[in-house]
Amino acid sequence: MSSQSTKPRKRINVRTPEVMDRVKAEVEIHYRSHIVEKFRERGGVLTIGNTTVRLAKQFGFCYGVERAIDLAYASRKVFENQRIFLIGEIIHNPEVNRQLAEMGIRNLVGPDSSVEDLTEEDVVIVPAFGAETSMMEQIKAKGCQIVDTTCGDVMSVWKRVRKYAKQEVTSIIHGKASHEETRATSSRAMGANGKGHYLVILTLDDTDYVCSYIRQGGNREAFLERFSGCHSEGFDPDKHLERVGVANQTTMLKSETEELQRRIAQAIKDRDGSSRDNTESKFQFFDTICGATQERQDALFDMLKSEMDMLLVVGGYNSSNTTHLVEIGSQELPTFFIKDANCLQSLNEIIHFDLHQGKEVASTYSERLLGEGPATIGVTAGASCPNNLIEATIIRVLEMRGISKEEILED
Ligand code: SF4
Repeated sequence: MSSQSTKPRKRINVRTPEVMDRVKAEVEIHYRSHIVEKFRERGGVLTIGNTTVRLAKQFGFCYGVERAIDLAYASRKVFENQRIFLIGEIIHNPEVNRQLAEMGIRNLVGPDSSVEDLTEEDVVIVPAFGAETSMMEQIKAKGCQIVDTTCGDVMSVWKRVRKYAKQEVTSIIHGKASHEETRATSSRAMGANGKGHYLVILTLDDTDYVCSYIRQGGNREAFLERFSGCHSEGFDPDKHLERVGVANQTTMLKSETEELQRRIAQAIKDRDGSSRDNTESKFQFFDTICGATQERQDALFDMLKSEMDMLLVVGGYNSSNTTHLVEIGSQELPTFFIKDANCLQSLNEIIHFDLHQGKEVASTYSERLLGEGPATIGVTAGASCPNNLIEATIIRVLEMRGISKEEILED
């Protein structure tokens, strides 16, 4: 059997009602939490004795993540005896990826697998972030069965950058160049003929550097050096910042994305004047932050209006939307980014991911939370965090305040 077939595969619907009934039951067993449900019913607050735990109104799995997990579980059921590969991680959560590995779903870009080894009999799952066009072409050329879980919100960003490429407008993508979603988006920004251009900008410092170049030019080599790995091949800041269109990774901080748009629009106006013709043809933008990211950020802003002693943000350390929740919380109160309940050695000894140092560290915090005085602890979680991990965190917090799981369930 040829491993280089280009013959189109018949699409198999893995989401049939009978498969989905079994999938839902299994997903619920793995990720559901009665305690989190109880919080929801009570408006997100539980007080036992002197201890209050607040849970944000919106947290945890988003629609895109739920769909991706359902499709991965359904693939295992439908393609029972076939090899199944996943391009990287289905979502950014180690627990969910561990469950899939336990089901025999292998990482296509891990040390033990490669696209080269795929055959027509294999199944490849595309994660919720999507995948780069070059990777998709290689997989299609192998004739594999593809189960595409790319979130619809990610596809809207692709639609936008493809439109920019068609109009010969350079895409400025607000995101992290190494993030799977941004890599997938960047590959679409090159358009159908591969000649389009893009520049990925992460910070407002980088934005100011680009704005200065737009206004008065600068050292081309220094520019390319600074943005090495963040632009399309052949990108030339002297030519390709003439007409730009902004899009963003779906999970960015909304206020920062808006600021980036505003600064770039102003730089273009300063360079070319503010006539309507100039502004419309030289600068376009489209807010592509997804609804789920926005809701989780808004819910946290809302929760921060209440008095709390500390905030725990639960999620995978490489999760972009979770990172932004940590940034929001850190501006208001002591905030700890934890991957699971095991990070809580005690309420004043916490292992957490430090965003500035880019690594997990151990911190000591207020002794007061160990005492019997009143304490309020806030909890939220990113869009890729399952409820069972949130539940384990809540139980651990309450146990450390001397409250047993039985008391929580009875209350
Ligand atoms: S965070 Fe947004 S873009 Fe990503 S999977 Fe969820 S809904 Fe889709």
